[in-house]
Amino acid sequence: MTGAGRLREGLVGLALAAGSTAAALAAPTPSHGDAGLAAAPAPTIEQTTTLARTSAPPIGPTWDDDAALPAHADDVVDYTLHATLDPALHTVRGSGTIVWRNRSVVPVHEIWLHLYLNAFKNERSVFLREPVGFGRGGGGVSEFGYIDVKSLVARELDGADLLRGAERTSPGDPDDETDVRVPLPREVEPGATLTLDVAWESRLPSLVERTGHAGTFYLVGQWFPKLARLERDGRWAHFPFHHLAEFYADFGAYDVTLDVPAGYVVGATGTSTAPEAPAPTGRSVTRWVQRDVHDFAWTAWDHFEQHAADVDGVAVRVLAPPGYGAAVAREIETVRFGLRRFGERFGRYPYPVLTVVHPPDGADEAGGMEYPTLITTGGAWWEPRSLRRIEAVTLHELGHQWFYGLVASDELTHPFLDEGLNSYAEQVALTEWLGPGTLASLPGLELGDAELRRAAAVAVGHDDPVAQPASAFVTGRDYGGLVYARTATIFATLAGTYGQAPVMRALGRYARRFRWEHPTPADLVGAVREVVGEEAAANLEAALFDRAWVDYVAVAATSRRRTTAAGLFDRAGKRETATATKSADGGFEGWALIQRHGTLSLPVDIELRGRDGSVERVRWDGRGRSTRVTWTGPSELATAVVDPDARVLLDEDRTNDAVRAAGHAPASRAFEHALYLAEVGLAAAMP
Ligand SMILES: [Zn+2]
Repeated sequence: MTGAGRLREGLVGLALAAGSTAAALAAPTPSHGDAGLAAAPAPTIEQTTTLARTSAPPIGPTWDDDAALPAHADDVVDYTLHATLDPALHTVRGSGTIVWRNRSVVPVHEIWLHLYLNAFKNERSVFLREPVGFGRGGGGVSEFGYIDVKSLVARELDGADLLRGAERTSPGDPDDETDVRVPLPREVEPGATLTLDVAWESRLPSLVERTGHAGTFYLVGQWFPKLARLERDGRWAHFPFHHLAEFYADFGAYDVTLDVPAGYVVGATGTSTAPEAPAPTGRSVTRWVQRDVHDFAWTAWDHFEQHAADVDGVAVRVLAPPGYGAAVAREIETVRFGLRRFGERFGRYPYPVLTVVHPPDGADEAGGMEYPTLITTGGAWWEPRSLRRIEAVTLHELGHQWFYGLVASDELTHPFLDEGLNSYAEQVALTEWLGPGTLASLPGLELGDAELRRAAAVAVGHDDPVAQPASAFVTGRDYGGLVYARTATIFATLAGTYGQAPVMRALGRYARRFRWEHPTPADLVGAVREVVGEEAAANLEAALFDRAWVDYVAVAATSRRRTTAAGLFDRAGKRETATATKSADGGFEGWALIQRHGTLSLPVDIELRGRDGSVERVRWDGRGRSTRVTWTGPSELATAVVDPDARVLLDEDRTNDAVRAAGHAPASRAFEHALYLAEVGLAAAMP
């Protein structure tokens, strides 16, 4: 999702940094509640925040193009579901079959179910107890929701009623009901299958973060009993639904029949196909199928207008309120650009469909969210074209089809792997498409995603590491500033320092190699090491995990007219005293002193500018704490600037990047002034 999802918040990125700093409530640590089940330790924050500092296996140039892309995901869990919407009660009654395969190497004696909708059941849930902010859910829940599992039967286990032994509370957090352990009467061997017949009832809350209803509009996410993912080592990656966190699941095939009142227009994950039975009177029944996905969401509203477009064979469908034609046209344009650009860069989009949902007025919290083959966007129908929020949000959510959808990293444990990488992918694409002023234009300075995220990244500082589980962030402001903005700024810095082409190639290899898999940070760092090099990988790792930072400072500069050397000289057996005299060529000599503060060692350019307009550049490897650059030339040295092209976006203080030479008026510092003013303006705009 994006902090700009709640579109009234304003510019993308600015909203990310502007989350509320409501009372900090420490996030509970997930822990294993049942000492008798010692075999599979649950993930803890301590375990999951540490990057295993082993080298990831080589990925290789095979993944620079799509030739080796697998045709399909490993099919782990299939859902065949039937759901009936009752708009009078805001309920969804569901039933169906879940077929799950034990792909781990150990026998399994329990399963874990995520009942995410119980996050909105009462104010004792982990979700509603956590600090609000980050633009969403700040208003709380006005109508509570829930999911009640009515029956759960395993065919291979003699039809055992599994609900009887289920612990309907999260271990370690007895008040939360989003994470349920279901003991099995017999073990399921590696490779064996479990077929679960399930029935449930969900009531949708008033729209709160990605799911719920507003009037007759429904965005239905996290609405069915969903199996946690079983890691290969037999550890269930289960967790309560945290406020700032998203999801993690196995791939599989979904076949979902949706029964809604006649007159409702439905959009859903996957392709629409013929239902097995005709619709009863007064009802509308649609059926949606999609393999190779790890979630299923849908929307229904009796006022949607439908728009369609074809993008290179992908059937794009936009559902929007009446009168939003201009916004829809911009969304289709964005998707046309994005599907191609992201496809070239991170591997082709493999699904035949994409549904874009533009929620109506009053349903803003449904905007700016991603599900497989279904994204939600937003913005006013009258939104001026010069303000590019519609494009920014649509492109961001589309990018999630890769970074979370196809590359299904664990969104709770490593949120920077989806939101951070996606923010970077989005900001680069947006700039390529719309130019540097992707978001706004100020006199003398175009403002884009990258500048806003850079300001947010610097504002949030480096006291906390980027690579933390979503549940460990104390406020939404920290989460937005570190996970979205700082990750994107780290990658923008690597691209500025080592070149955008190799950095993008590394991300492309990572995205293709781990399509339909669940990579870890070590895999990402491995891809960067392989393509960009050891130094870049070390800097990336330090910036993500070790709170690394950098501030280059142009400390001092000076020059003087070149003179002959003064002193005592022994010449032809005679000692002579010489005084300094101006050299015949009238040239100048001098130096500039540049320092590096902080723990990142990034190569950087240093530019010396003469009073006559001459310019000299040198590259400093950035390894020592300081360097002295000499100046010789026909003119006095006027200014020394470190990182004149502002490539090191992580530089914490750009106001000290330039220094005028001692005793001389400055050359033009329009660039530094513009940056400085922009930062002052941004700082003022952020609470
Ligand atoms: Zn996002």
